[in-house]
Amino acid sequence: MKIVLATGNRGKLREFRQMCQDEVVAFSDLLGSFDIVEDGGTFAANALIKAKTIYAKLKEKFPDEAYIVIADDSGISVPALGGIPGIFSARYAGEGASDKENLYKLIDALKEKGLVEAPAYYTAAIAIVSDLGEYVVHGWMHGRVITEAKGDKGFGYDPMFIPSEYDKTLGELDDDIKSKISHRAKALVLAKPIIQMLKRQ
Ligand code: IMP
Repeated sequence: MKIVLATGNRGKLREFRQMCQDEVVAFSDLLGSFDIVEDGGTFAANALIKAKTIYAKLKEKFPDEAYIVIADDSGISVPALGGIPGIFSARYAGEGASDKENLYKLIDALKEKGLVEAPAYYTAAIAIVSDLGEYVVHGWMHGRVITEAKGDKGFGYDPMFIPSEYDKTLGELDDDIKSKISHRAKALVLAKPIIQMLKRQ
């Protein structure tokens, strides 16, 4: 049984490898690289689109192999701004925008509303697709966003996000704190027993 990750992101691949304690292959190693149109309306829908697309292509190319395909989709939401950027987090400042451009666009959106901070949360959806069916789990990390970028740890919106029960941004806090409290870590905890169960079939 091969576990295939529907991402080209090396950091995510490493996280999943640690969790599964066995071989996790990047989809591009088996299928080459290609774009997947993520046009779902939720994190779960987009994670499922990725996992199902890769699963279908694998089945077409290697019909006799058994696969578990894992995909994730994540982002940050600010309820005071109507939930933006949400599922558009990666391309908030436009297609191909850098992490910095997205972060400063969110800072500007808060300032335009006259806010110096606002409650916010990260969401991660992990989709798992195998011969036995489709599963989706979620994890969340709550906190607040501020109108300044502080620290250079983490990535994306981390320098402006202060997790609940902390007084520093994820840009300032150590990586090992984030890896315990993050939305992705929480979703991974739920994904693990599903993957173990599917591996035994
Ligand atoms: P994707 O899940 O790879 O599509 O990434 C979604 C986008 O959400 C990223 O490009 C970041 O902008 C943002 N994002 C998701 N998770 C995090 C996180 O842990 N820290 C900071 N930004 C994040």
